[in-house]
Amino acid sequence: MDIMRTHYASDITPDMSGDTVTVAGWIHEMRDLGGIYFLILRDRGGFMQITMVKKKTDPELFESARRLIRESVLTVTGTVKKEDKAPRGYEIIPQTLSVLSESDSPLPMDITGKVDADIDTRLDSRFIDLRRRKTLDAFVIRHHALKAVRNFLENEGFIEIHTPKVVAAATEGGTALFPITYFNREAFLNQSPQLYKQIMMSAGFDRVYEIGAIFRAEEHDTLRHLNEATSIDIEASFMDHLDVMEILERLVHKVYARVAVDCAPQLEELGIELSVPKLPFKRVSYDDALEIALSQGHTIEWGEDFGTAAERAIGNAIGEHYFLTDWPTEIKPYYTHPYEDKPVYSKSFDLMHPRMELASGSQRIHSHKILHEMIEAHGLNPNGFDFYLKAFQYGMPPHAGWGLGAERLVMTMLHIENIRDAVLFPRDRKRLSP
Ligand code: ATP
Ligand code: MG
Repeated sequence: MDIMRTHYASDITPDMSGDTVTVAGWIHEMRDLGGIYFLILRDRGGFMQITMVKKKTDPELFESARRLIRESVLTVTGTVKKEDKAPRGYEIIPQTLSVLSESDSPLPMDITGKVDADIDTRLDSRFIDLRRRKTLDAFVIRHHALKAVRNFLENEGFIEIHTPKVVAAATEGGTALFPITYFNREAFLNQSPQLYKQIMMSAGFDRVYEIGAIFRAEEHDTLRHLNEATSIDIEASFMDHLDVMEILERLVHKVYARVAVDCAPQLEELGIELSVPKLPFKRVSYDDALEIALSQGHTIEWGEDFGTAAERAIGNAIGEHYFLTDWPTEIKPYYTHPYEDKPVYSKSFDLMHPRMELASGSQRIHSHKILHEMIEAHGLNPNGFDFYLKAFQYGMPPHAGWGLGAERLVMTMLHIENIRDAVLFPRDRKRLSP
């Protein structure tokens, strides 16, 4: 048990009236009515009302309480009393109260929710912003969502791996990379665990997953891109694209279903009614999606990627999670497996939320010879891929996989407008601190 605390706010109930408890937290608010003084103490579990009636309180305690500064950290030992008007239906009558850390004043931003702060102010003082219930709620939900991801994948027989984030070569070429100095050589921050998780298929691990950082040096400044993001990646042997699509839709379904149950109090505080997406998700081929986009007045040539506007138009037409399948081989990465009978199309897919892309995946080429040719055909130098290609030379099973953006999963689930609100300390073009 904690030395400084016996209970969280959420552990105490009105029927504990008469019990002595020790609580700890931050001073959220003070209300001085002259003869009666209320302190609202906040911890991770919620709010507690500490009530001091002047006539009944030790004068020294009463006066020291009135000198407290908001957001200071306290522990309070006192007696629980049922009080219908207090948060959670109880108040605490203190016997002792000690300040563990005094706050400066004024605060860098308001945290009671009375004054709105813009995102930059909030991010500059993120530690304070995170003290706000609604900000905290999103991260508690993110925690439960990722726990559900792990549980799901482990039940499906996936082994968790951790692959290097400092690498010598680009995964895909094209995408901008962050160069770093690695002793006296140039290295990069990895943009995806793609090559390593594929090597693990040759290693015989059969089904692997990783939840880790990916780094993208693109200078985009959008509401759905970060320069450091969290990717949920899987790779599985003896599976094709259809098999891993099925795993992905069941996973998304499971995450929503778990969050709906495990995070009911947070969802309520955020005013979100979570609707669990129905299985199976719609499958829409690239060609059909192109037709939708064209019919809505967007101009796209076959073989081009959909821009943001066309993507939104298709998303609105479909209105729920869906898979965009069978992409032209030429616009997908070199490791994407073409259909044997119609090689201009590939065994690839994106998982889409009406608002944005959530995941990309495919069956992968497992033939060393074809992979080598495809790397060259994409204008890349196979020498840079030696460590990767070697794994295809000595027995590589057919395999497939996907990468799902953790922040995008959370932001679409919680209707978060800006991806920066789905990550604790966002990294974007302008922000490297905190
Ligand atoms: P987009 O086209 O939306 O920029 P992408 O196709 O470049 O995404 P992939 O390389 O397919 O992204 O990465 C797989 C998933 O990782 C994406 O679907 C997305 O959820 C997530 N992701 C990729 N890049 C970013 C980023 N810069 N910020 C946040 N999430 C990202
Ligand atoms: Mg993609």
